[in-house]
Amino acid sequence: MTCPHCQSTAVDRRRLRTALGYRRSSCAGCQRRFNERTGTPFNELQFPTDIVLLAVLWHLRYKLGLRDVSELLLQRGYTVSHETIRA
Ligand SMILES: [Zn+2]
Repeated sequence: MTCPHCQSTAVDRRRLRTALGYRRSSCAGCQRRFNERTGTPFNELQFPTDIVLLAVLWHLRYKLGLRDVSELLLQRGYTVSHETIRA
């Protein structure tokens, strides 16, 4: 794994995880902390990356409406409004 800030490979994987379960790492080069979503468009999202991609797949590939996607996510334990999916 490389640091997304300085591209150093001197990275220490920590035992701590983020609220969504992503393992935290720290860089020995720049002393910054990051996880696997740091620097990606998914970094600030409140749902796991695979759930976001699943919702996009259902909506675009299977042409499900936003309310249908919201209902399917609720069955998986994620309370997401159709307006959130649209954003
Ligand atoms: Zn670094």
